[in-house]
Amino acid sequence: MDLQENSDSATNSEAKNSQQKNGEQEKSEVKKSEVEKREKKESDRSAYHKSQSKNRPTGNREQRSGNYTKGGDNRNSNNKSSGKGNSPRDSKRGGRSKFAAATDKSLQECVAKNQKIHEARLNPNSKININNDAKIRITPLGGLGEIGGNITVFETEKEAILVDVGMSFPDEEMHGVDILVPDFTYVRQIKDKLVAIIITHGHEDHIGAVSYLFKEMQLPIYATALPLAMIANRFEEHHMQEFKKYFRPIEKRTIVKVGNDFDLEWMHMTHSIIDASSLAITTDAGTIIHTGDFKIDHTPVDGYTADLHRFAHYGERGVLCMLSDSTNSHNPGMTMSELSVAPALDRLYAKVKGRVFVSTFSSNVHRVYQAIEHGIKYGRKVCVIGRSMERNLELAMNYDYIKLPSSSFIEPHELGRYKDSEILIVTTGSQGEPNSALFRMSIGEHRHVKIKPTDTVILSARAIPGNEGSISKVVNHLQRAGAHVLHNVRDIHVSGHGAQEEQKLLIRLVQPKFFLPVHGEFNHIMKHKDTAISCGVQERNIYLMEDGDQIEVSARTMRKVRSVKTGKTYIDNQNNHTIENDIVLDRQSLATEGIVNIVAQVSKSDSRLIGHPRVSTFGIIANKQEHAFGNEIAGVLEQYMLNIKPGLIENSRAMENDLRGVVRKHIYRKTKKYPMIVPTLFVM
Ligand SMILES: [Zn+2]
Ligand SMILES: [Zn+2]
Repeated sequence: MDLQENSDSATNSEAKNSQQKNGEQEKSEVKKSEVEKREKKESDRSAYHKSQSKNRPTGNREQRSGNYTKGGDNRNSNNKSSGKGNSPRDSKRGGRSKFAAATDKSLQECVAKNQKIHEARLNPNSKININNDAKIRITPLGGLGEIGGNITVFETEKEAILVDVGMSFPDEEMHGVDILVPDFTYVRQIKDKLVAIIITHGHEDHIGAVSYLFKEMQLPIYATALPLAMIANRFEEHHMQEFKKYFRPIEKRTIVKVGNDFDLEWMHMTHSIIDASSLAITTDAGTIIHTGDFKIDHTPVDGYTADLHRFAHYGERGVLCMLSDSTNSHNPGMTMSELSVAPALDRLYAKVKGRVFVSTFSSNVHRVYQAIEHGIKYGRKVCVIGRSMERNLELAMNYDYIKLPSSSFIEPHELGRYKDSEILIVTTGSQGEPNSALFRMSIGEHRHVKIKPTDTVILSARAIPGNEGSISKVVNHLQRAGAHVLHNVRDIHVSGHGAQEEQKLLIRLVQPKFFLPVHGEFNHIMKHKDTAISCGVQERNIYLMEDGDQIEVSARTMRKVRSVKTGKTYIDNQNNHTIENDIVLDRQSLATEGIVNIVAQVSKSDSRLIGHPRVSTFGIIANKQEHAFGNEIAGVLEQYMLNIKPGLIENSRAMENDLRGVVRKHIYRKTKKYPMIVPTLFVM
């Protein structure tokens, strides 16, 4: 697909049209959420602000009608639909001839000049040198059409970087597979061009596959401190400590030269993990903004807000292309601030007399911090249980991201010394993981903690799609043990990803010419596309990528040039080894279809069976019927040997294959199943 550039003239009448409102849009202005109202109050009421709000209804209207004119020019479509004469502006205009005498020419000119200024300001083309022939290629190798496994290649003529190298989780059919790592085939192909790995933040879906890549090749890793410290933990687990020498800790707000072709800036971003960043990637082709995972939290727990000034800086200079997080693109409004869970936690601690358990993602250090801080406030001692929870909390405290009094922490074996009302247990297992501390507590198998009826358990996390069943299981166990469980309660969890208004904010700040929604399944990126169109990005300048699509971007065009191989490598966590695809396929067929084992002796001289063959089956036929079934298969085998093709008996492998086909047909007729069939024929 070829995505042509936006011609300059297309945008000329747009700004003008966008100012026209109708009654419906006026209403939608009034119906703004509380968050927006508050924001409006806080922000300065400059002319800039007013002109921004003029543009806003355009998008709202677009989304309602869901109808875009050619080229995705939202502002034009608005023009057509707003000519009903019911907007205040239209009625004024209709009466213009009557009051013509009252119109001051210099003011008219002023309006015209400012309209031109708006047009220039809102036209992404005006800031990009379209005579620039340099190109950059963007290839996602994971993270699209799926949740997790984020890895993207950015490639110039001579050099390439990888942005994030994440893992994902298997579905239930991948038996014995613990994690999925992206297929590195393409990375191997361009190995000589690769100059660095760039990390946005420390979530597993962004760093989890780094150690597996490092087993094959080593590259400098550029990131802020926390993601590097988390990768260091992984390296230690894999006995690869020596690779820490590849770490390149970076400073935010500083341009870092990577290789010869890349200038990178890490821009601070708010998310459900601390020390997250967006990236500004500048090459000869121009600047690409990669949001990484984000929410726009104006009151983050540590006070470090998203560095929107840097986004605005790049937006003002002209941004060629933007890749943006689509996770919550179906959610209207704003995602609540992380700080908003505090009042709910506080209310709970004030009320609860027994022990309190808080379970959340161990990487969400600010959530853990808030749970602990409020626990301490109500005189509770904190017991942290669960390896990853302990490790991440320790990291965050060691590196000074959070401060908590060490005197407030107790060890699990000390719990007996305190009253229930003095205990807060912070633990992993919010996704119902069967080997987590919470799960073991829930079934009474934890060494130090047994659940009792006075306990309150707060699951402060959303279910990752696919985990609903296991969460339900742990909730059932906890409730059966008598605990009061708070799960899916709105105030005690907020998402780490921005909703539509936050996505719009970044698009408006950056004003990219080309837009690539990323981080989500197809429906998420498709919805994000609508949002981008409503914020002035041309529809033809948006591409919905799939893993393996190689997109070439230059000042004039964005197009898909080819597809590269992608996929997943299966990993067994017990030994950190790869599991080959055919093994997983075999396991799948064993699990769903069963297995038939046939052992027999065959006479070479007359192709007859010697003795009775042994037939054993698993997962096909009930035990009590197995004897009859075995006889039936033996009959098939006997028949087969009687009619065997001449010469086949000389080649026992070919004979077994042939027999397998015959038995398969028979079994399918009987059972409508395709079990694995393992014939072993001894030719005597
Ligand atoms: Zn992510
Ligand atoms: Zn993330």
